[in-house]
Amino acid sequence: MSDITPLTVADGEFYPGQSGLVELVAGQLPSGNEVSIKAHVFRSFRDGPTLLFIAGVHGDEINGVEILRRAIRQKIFSNIIAGTVVAVPLLNVYGFNNFSRDVPDGKDVNRSFPGTATGSLASRIAAGLSKNLLANCDLAVDFHTGGRGLFNYPQIRYSPGDLQAFEAAKQFNPPVMVASKAPSKSLRRSAHKSLGLSVLTYEGGENLRYDGHGIAEGLDGLRRLLYARGMAKHQPERPQREPLTVSASSWVRASRAGLFQWSKRSGFAVRRGEPIGMIYDPHGIKPSKRILSPREGFIIGHNNAAVVSQGDALFHIGY
Ligand SMILES: [Zn+2]
Repeated sequence: MSDITPLTVADGEFYPGQSGLVELVAGQLPSGNEVSIKAHVFRSFRDGPTLLFIAGVHGDEINGVEILRRAIRQKIFSNIIAGTVVAVPLLNVYGFNNFSRDVPDGKDVNRSFPGTATGSLASRIAAGLSKNLLANCDLAVDFHTGGRGLFNYPQIRYSPGDLQAFEAAKQFNPPVMVASKAPSKSLRRSAHKSLGLSVLTYEGGENLRYDGHGIAEGLDGLRRLLYARGMAKHQPERPQREPLTVSASSWVRASRAGLFQWSKRSGFAVRRGEPIGMIYDPHGIKPSKRILSPREGFIIGHNNAAVVSQGDALFHIGY
C-alpha cells in the first residue's frame, strides 16, 4: 500500500504516481526578466526512497547537466518502480548563461550553503535549494567537473565517516571512489551537518567541455544506484572492474611558470619518480623543466592548460 500524503516540492504537491515540473524562483535579471530553476519530480505509486540528482551548481560544469538531460530524455526517471526522484539539471542558471562557475557577483553557490533568503544571490539560491528540496530527500548526488581547465577522472567523492554515503558510492560503482572532506559551506558538508543528508559528489571531465567517458560513467552510476535502491526494474550491466578506492590525495604544482604539457594524464597509475610532464620556457632560452611524480599512485585529475603560473595545480594524485 502507498503512503497517501503528498510530497511537497516548493509550491508543488505530488501524490503517488504523480510527476511534474516545479519552478523555483531564483531572482531576476537587471532587465527585469524572471530567473527560475526547474526541478523535475517523478513519484512512483510504490513507496521508496527519495533521491535528489542535481547538476550545474557550478554553471560552467556541463557534463552533469548532460547526464541529467539524458536521464530525463531516456525516461530513466519516469520509469522508476518505487520511490521518488527529484532532478535539477541546472541549478546555477546565471553561471550557465555566462559560461561561469559563479553567479554574477562572483560568489560560488557551492560555498554558500545552507544560505539565507536575505543574503547574496549565491546564498539565496543555496537557501532555496535547502528549503525546498534537501529537507525531503534520503540521498543526493551532486554532479560536477573540474574547474578552469582541470580535468577530473570520473569519480565519486564522499565524506569520510559517512557510512550511508560510502554504501551509496559503492552502489554507484564509479571508476574511482575518493574519501575526502567536503569544503566548508559546500552542499555536501552543509546538508550532512544540518539535515543528516548524505550527498555524493560526482566529478567527471572539465568545465565548459563535454567528456564522453565522464558522461557515460555518470549515467551508468545513476542507473546502478536506482537499481540498488529498488527503484529501477532492469539491472544495469556491472562494469568489468571494481572501483579504485582513494583515501588520500595531493596536488603536484608547477615549480615555475611557462608552457605546460603533460605526458601522463588522468586515469593512469604512476610510480614514484616517473616523468609525467614538462614545463617549457616560451622563448626557448631556459632549459625545460621535467615534472616527476612525487609518489606512487593514480592520477585522478590533471590540468589541460597550456600556460601555467608558478604554483598552479598540475596533477591530482590519489593513493
Ligand atoms: Zn563544481
